[in-house]
Amino acid sequence: MQAGLLRSFQNSSQSRGMTAWFISAMLFAFYILMYFTSVFDPLATALGLGSRWNLYGTLYTLAIIVGGIYFLKRHGNSRYHQLRTYSLIFFQSVMAFSIPMVMEIFDTKGFVFSIFWPLKMDYFYPQNIFEYPVLLIVYAFLSALIGVPIMTILFGKRWYCSWMCGCGGLAETAGEPFRHLSNKSRKAWRFEKVSIYSVLVLAIITTVLVLVNWSLGTHAVSGEWSTEHSTLNLVSSKVQGAYQFIVAAMLSGVLGVGLYPLMGSRVWCRFFCPLAAILGIFQKFGRFRITVKDDMCISCGNCSTYCEMGIDVRAYAQANQSFKRAACVGCGICAHVCPRGVLRLENKWDFKTEPAGLTPQSIDF
Ligand code: SF4
Ligand code: SF4
Repeated sequence: MQAGLLRSFQNSSQSRGMTAWFISAMLFAFYILMYFTSVFDPLATALGLGSRWNLYGTLYTLAIIVGGIYFLKRHGNSRYHQLRTYSLIFFQSVMAFSIPMVMEIFDTKGFVFSIFWPLKMDYFYPQNIFEYPVLLIVYAFLSALIGVPIMTILFGKRWYCSWMCGCGGLAETAGEPFRHLSNKSRKAWRFEKVSIYSVLVLAIITTVLVLVNWSLGTHAVSGEWSTEHSTLNLVSSKVQGAYQFIVAAMLSGVLGVGLYPLMGSRVWCRFFCPLAAILGIFQKFGRFRITVKDDMCISCGNCSTYCEMGIDVRAYAQANQSFKRAACVGCGICAHVCPRGVLRLENKWDFKTEPAGLTPQSIDF
């Protein structure tokens, strides 16, 4: 039983009404207080969670579990959506939350197996990654440099964005009521292409700066991460701090989640996530695509309406044009809500992106 799809625009909280603005303001306030103050520390201590970050992890995991149940109520009549929802709940509750907590109980620094560079910048910062055992260091480098490209060429970015990632997990579950609020305009698409690759370039510059600074020996002088402020060391730490504040705190947390009720649940994934940018590039050269059955579309617009990445799926369907888009996270909702079964998510090599006489959209990023 699919519940609630048609009511999405009648509800103040789901149609940018007063309730939506209120929820957005509450989310902004929560993230600012959580990230930049210690007001949640007493509550974390009272609950026996140690630090506010553990409290945040607990709330985040609960949001994904509760949101996952809500999502299944709406879309659980599909095996695909059942499996990927269970997968998201598993990766968040076990791999991203429980395992790092258990590691810390045994006095080992927590390691999240389901997050890779550059989403987790720490895993390429020598001063952080070299605190882990050799096997985890090897895992961090191989997964980011080899595992991510291979998996994405074979399966598209959905294996990560819609099945494993914690940010995607929150968007797909707790963010489900807001997925239709994504901006479908070409202006938003143009902004997305500039913003996401800008953050990726910033992530690469930051990582290279930190690596060069470390390899030039400031580390070797004292045997610890240097506190001597040579010019490079100073620039490196400033850039690292700026990236942490702007990208990791403001864009992924405060704006990324705070804007759910106003701009949809994938603001961070669509406009700013540097790992999504890398996944999107490999997706364009890989097997994954959405195929369209010829002359079946009745232009109802359900697919475009519920695409959380703002892709105008209907335009491709109307043009009988199968497509690959770097932004597509392979959530499969467009195919799920199509009343005519026009769309299909596929992994196949034999793909012609540009049938004669159609728009150039599908060959663009
Ligand atoms: S195009 Fe379809 S599968 Fe891709 S993000 Fe949009 S709704 Fe999900
Ligand atoms: S949901 Fe299906 S029928 Fe409706 S516009 Fe999209 S492809 Fe066409």
